Parts: sequence; C-alpha cells; structure tokens
Amino acid sequence: MTAIRITGGRVHDPTNEVDGEIRDVCINGGKVVSDVGHDARRIDARGMVVMPGGVDIHAHIAGPKVNAARKLTPEDRRDDPLDRTELLRSGTGGLVPSTFATGYRYSLLGYTTVVEAAAPPLAARQVLAELRDTPMIDSAFLILMGNNQVLFELIRESRGAVSSQLRDAVAWWLDATGGYGVKLVNPGGVEVFKQDNGNVHSLDDEVPGYAVTPRQVLEAIGGAVDELGLPHPVHIHANNLGVPGNADTTLETMRTVSGRQAHFAHLQFHCYGGKPGGQPRSRAPELLDYLASHPEITADVGQVMFGPAVTMTADGPLSAALRDLDGGKWLNHDTEVETGCGIVPYRYRAGSYVHALQWAIGLELFLLGKDPWQVMLSTDHPNGGSFLSYPKLIRLLMDRAFRDDQIGRANQRAIRRTALLDGLDREYTLNEIAIITRAGPARRLGLRHKGHLGVGADADVTIYHDRADREEMFATPRYVIKGGELAVEEGELRRSDDGLLHSSSARFDPDVVRVLEPLFGDRYTVAFEHYPVRDPALREPARIVEAGP
Ligand SMILES: [Zn+2]
Repeated sequence: MTAIRITGGRVHDPTNEVDGEIRDVCINGGKVVSDVGHDARRIDARGMVVMPGGVDIHAHIAGPKVNAARKLTPEDRRDDPLDRTELLRSGTGGLVPSTFATGYRYSLLGYTTVVEAAAPPLAARQVLAELRDTPMIDSAFLILMGNNQVLFELIRESRGAVSSQLRDAVAWWLDATGGYGVKLVNPGGVEVFKQDNGNVHSLDDEVPGYAVTPRQVLEAIGGAVDELGLPHPVHIHANNLGVPGNADTTLETMRTVSGRQAHFAHLQFHCYGGKPGGQPRSRAPELLDYLASHPEITADVGQVMFGPAVTMTADGPLSAALRDLDGGKWLNHDTEVETGCGIVPYRYRAGSYVHALQWAIGLELFLLGKDPWQVMLSTDHPNGGSFLSYPKLIRLLMDRAFRDDQIGRANQRAIRRTALLDGLDREYTLNEIAIITRAGPARRLGLRHKGHLGVGADADVTIYHDRADREEMFATPRYVIKGGELAVEEGELRRSDDGLLHSSSARFDPDVVRVLEPLFGDRYTVAFEHYPVRDPALREPARIVEAGP
C-alpha cells in the first residue's frame, strides 16, 4: 500500500476540531497515520481544501426497487452511456445509474461511503450482489422492519413493549441479511395498503388483523434497536409522508421515540402544515425547535432539487398518491409479508406552489437549524433529486447571492410562506459543509473509522480546489483518496477497487429460530432455511461493527 503525505492543504476535520488549519495529512496502510517516511508520495495541496471522504447517510443505490426503477426509465439512461475503458466497466448514467456507474460517480464527487437506506430483507441477496458490483465506495444497508407480519405477531404478543424475543428477532434479521441498521417506513401503513389500498393516518390506528399500531411498532422496534446497542439508531420514515398537516404526526412520532436515539429520514417531506387535501405550508421551524431540545434525535433533509427525479419507496400508499398526481408510469409491488414498494418517475417544477414550498422547506431546515451535527445533507437520492446535485445544493447553502437568485425563480406564493425572505443571510462555512456531508453522518452511523482524519481513521480523503464557485468546487475534486489509494485525479478515475461492506452484529439467543420458523412457515413462500444469506461471496469481506452500549 502506498504511503502518502498531503502537504500544505487547509484541513477541515470537524470531528477532531480542525477548522481550516494548514497541516499535513499522512497516510499509510490504508489508514491515517501520524507521520510517513521521506520516500512517501507527496501530494501538494497548497491552496486546496482537504476533507474526509463524503458519507451519504441516506440514498437508494441497490436492490430490487432500484433495479426496477432502472427498467422503468430507459429513456432517462439511453442518452447517458458510459463506455468501457481499460480500467472501467460500461454502464448507464441518468437518475438511477447502473451499479458500476453509481460507484464511479459517487467517487468522482468525493464520496467514499454510501448507505442504501431501504432494503427488504427478503431481497438481501440482490442488495448484496448489487453493492458488491458497486466499486469505489464502502457501503451498508438498512433493513425494512416496519411492516413485517412476523414482527407484528411478536409486537402483539408483547403488547408493544420491547421483549427479549423481539430483540433476538431484530438481531437475527441483521445476522440473516448482512444488514447494518433498522429502517421503519410508514410503520403499519404499508401493510394496510397491501390489504385494501388504505393507509394509517394516526399513530394509534390499528393494523387490521394484527391489533398493532404504528406507535407500538415505533416503541417496540425502536426500543429493541436501542437496547441491542446497534451502531446506528432506528432510522425512521414517519407516517403521512407528504400529507399537508403531517408535522403533527412527525412531532408525535418524535415524542414517541424521544428519550432513545433515533434518526428521521428526509425530514423535509414531514414538515407540512395545513389540512389533508388542502395546501401545505411550512412548519419546519417547529420541527427544528423540537430537535434543538432533543439532541438524541437527528435527521437528514431530503432536499428537493428542481428538475427530474425518480421516487422509489417502500411506502406503497405514498407511491399511489404520487401516481395520482403525476398520471405517468408507475410500478407497485408487495414484498410478500414484509414490506412494499412503489416507483414513480417525477419532476419538481420551480413554478409549482407545492414543489417550490418543498424546496424552500429543505433550505429552511438547513439554514434555520442551530446544530449542523443534527441535520444532515441528503436529497434522498433519487427521490428529491440525484446525488449528482449535491454540489449545487452545497452552493445554495454557501452562497447567498446564488441562493437569492434561485429563490427569485421559484413560485413566489410558496416562497412568501416560508422564512426564506426574512433576511436569511446565513452562509455555510466549509467546516459546516464538512459536518453535514461527512463528519455528522459518519458519527450518526456509528462508523468510527469514517468521516474524520484522526490517526487510525480510514484513509478516505477528498481534496478540492478552493474555488469561489462552490458548485464547481464540490463537483470536481482535485484528488480523491479511497482506502489509502489515489482513486480520482482531476475528474478522472485512476482505479476501480471494490468497496467494503459494513454489517452490524448483535448477540441473540439462537433459540429464537424456534419462534420464527413456524411464523415463517405460515406466511412466506420461501423456506425458512433458505431465507438467510450465507453465501460468502456476498457476505465477505465485510467490516462487522459489533453492537454494544
Ligand atoms: Zn429514502
């Protein structure tokens, strides 16, 4: 492995309280080290900005829904082919790039770790196969557990409390799949949609046939994740996404889980005032107030970017609502007894009241939030826009003149109903950008080797030209170093290495299979013994992060 000394750059490493100091960063054996010998390769970073590699806490890059979206939108990718080269595989780009292209493009942006945020456990094989085919980035995936009939049975038995059986079941599921964390999507609501195209509307609506409520699912599964001590807390896509007035549901969900650690996904979609069926307005400031007094809760924004997107979600009823708005192509399927899935290609228009409001609410969350460690950058790729739009989003946060210009182009009736015209002059610093794009997500994910440049960290480093145009700066890093090797130079990939999978592991009583097996037998079309993914080619190598207090 190469020894490298990065000299003379301005280093932004918020985890280690380094804010723009000029200092060297030394790398050896794939790790950040305190020093290297004279024969180490030198990278002259004078006048440049040095940050840890980017960490995406919430994106959709692998698995059946991503693949189905690829099939559903051939027109999006036909015009963006990637040719095979001596080094690189061919592929297609667009909003949902093929596997290899996904890895290449994240790497070219300076990202080195990405979390697939919604994997059906039944599809873990496919998720693993695609992540293994996604080079250049380390990965992890979150397992969907909010609408699983077997878990519903256990929750009914415990009357919504955390039981040892439930803890064991959650740990068993992670062990069976290679998953890293636990995701709840519209808890209870997807099952109701699968039964009769319905949904739950409050945390206390009962799921017919199971006598469990969204609140019980949140308490029981969220509590089990917390008590197991998984490295990442429960990751929640709350009920009533996109529905005017849903800020009440979101606040109630936060109150239900508060006191325990929890992460709220794409908070922008959950911040709306108004009445269901009516026009939404912003209630982002109230949500931020709640966060300010509850440091145990974090969120990513799920910023909407004007232009094309592809919505893909386990939230089946949400997808059906988007189909009704859009009237174009859509796809919906049930994943047996454990989750659902819907895909709707979409376009966010600056002239639309609702879309401009969504765009503005995302910016409010970034700009009015007090603590950047608590509110992290995401577009819920590709739901709010492609990850390729991150540099533009960063410019919106860092460059007030640019932002004001963009605000002027958006639907003014929507903008007037937000705080964006209230002299909001905040401009993010480079350190704050480093927090919301790498240090914060890594800390929240419990990835201790990621998101910082202290001795012992993985040598994932991104070096940018310090350009006044922040969009250009973040779109074209000068160098990207991944795992201690130079991966990107001036917009060109130099290698195509496999990334490392991160899985988590928590102790459980193996006898839990005696409880699970008959419940599976009653419901699944696959045999219990064939459900866990044991194939070493898919599971290994992986960095296993042990659960613990
Ligand atoms: Zn998502």
